[in-house]
Amino acid sequence: MHAAMSRAWLIGAGPGDVELMTLKATRALAQADVVLVDDLVNPEVLQFARADALVVYVGKRGGHPSTPQAGIVAQMLEHLQAGRSVARLKGGDPFVFGRGGEEQEALHAAGISVDVINGITAGIAAPAAIGIPVTHRDHAQGVVFVTGHGAGSGEPDWAALVATRMTLVIYMGMRRLSEIVDALLAAGMSADTPCAAIESATRPEQRHALSRLGEFADTVSRAGLGSPAIVVIGGVASLALARDAVNVGSEPYGRAMKTLTVGIGCRLHSSAEEIETAVRATLGSHSFDEISMIASVDVKAHETGLLEFCASHALPLKLFSREQIAAISVKDPSAAAREHLGIDGVCEPCALLAAAAESDAARAPDAAHAPIGSMTPVASFAADTANARLLVRKTVHAGVTVAIASTTARPARDHTNTDTQEQDRP
Ligand code: SAH
Repeated sequence: MHAAMSRAWLIGAGPGDVELMTLKATRALAQADVVLVDDLVNPEVLQFARADALVVYVGKRGGHPSTPQAGIVAQMLEHLQAGRSVARLKGGDPFVFGRGGEEQEALHAAGISVDVINGITAGIAAPAAIGIPVTHRDHAQGVVFVTGHGAGSGEPDWAALVATRMTLVIYMGMRRLSEIVDALLAAGMSADTPCAAIESATRPEQRHALSRLGEFADTVSRAGLGSPAIVVIGGVASLALARDAVNVGSEPYGRAMKTLTVGIGCRLHSSAEEIETAVRATLGSHSFDEISMIASVDVKAHETGLLEFCASHALPLKLFSREQIAAISVKDPSAAAREHLGIDGVCEPCALLAAAAESDAARAPDAAHAPIGSMTPVASFAADTANARLLVRKTVHAGVTVAIASTTARPARDHTNTDTQEQDRP
């Protein structure tokens, strides 16, 4: 690379739905040599990054401890000083509870200028996703974006906020929801005030709960809603109530636990990082928690990258011979499934095979199958085997082929797993 000026961007990836990212964000992403990705960014947006870009996850989900803020800035500086352009991708808007301001300050202090590209913040997108406008002439003259996370000295002055009579949009408020509700009631807010909580807004697994302030904490906990979620308190929430009153506290989607099988075909010597990037990109809005096993062809038994990847996520690796894969009884195999037999990246049948075996064991014929999101696939098909209905998505990313199969068995929702993963470090 000649001494071209490297560039730095702070980019908002929007609330989740990849189509809610700006054109400017996708264009900047396409120029970056290095992409540093936060939690809550839908990995599908990486389809806009260059195939050879270095993608680094600096969030704390997916089994990684969070990278301290100073470490993230140091990484950015290191790449920039080496002449590489760096895109820092954040969920929603980078300047709304995203620490974008702090990163901008640190870069400025190092003499580096950074372009900020706005994103649609969850505080507007999540209410809108269920029909709530954050302002409305009949209900609120304005809106307050506030974090519910701060305790002690970081605690917002709830009484002062109640006095504004404006819509309250609370980020990171789920873990302390009952305390917040108590504080609002104590400050004189009416127990009849309409409220909404929207989890994973604009993503396929979006869910919400609606109720009056008096019963809100109960309703949310009965619905099993957890983070990430936006809480809306104020008259505007009645617009969702009116439209969708039957949905109070219901669970329209449920949550899939360990229902995905991931088949991986990789080139010789693919690194664990390359495999990780490809899997994340294919998973879309699904998480590593939903993966029950990794499948590959047995000739990959000694691939260090693959073994490392599986070990780092504590995922069991199952290997299948080409004969086993060829013998899968898929009633109506797409051409795509067969096409890849015998090629290095055999994996679509792998995933099918493993998923079919799993659901054989689980024997839950009537459970609804979990649809997989909407990334543009290289090949995608639904197949009926003897016992399982499977939906498969397959992509090729950074030289790694990834196929995902979902089993039909969907274990009951785990209600213990709701409030524990609050996003306290955006
Ligand atoms: N910069 C982000 C906010 C980061 S703080 C933005 O502008 O949206 C993290 C909090 O954002 C979460 O705890 C949750 O309250 C909210 N959040 C982010 N994405 C969300 C989504 N898809 N649905 C609901 N809430 C979301």
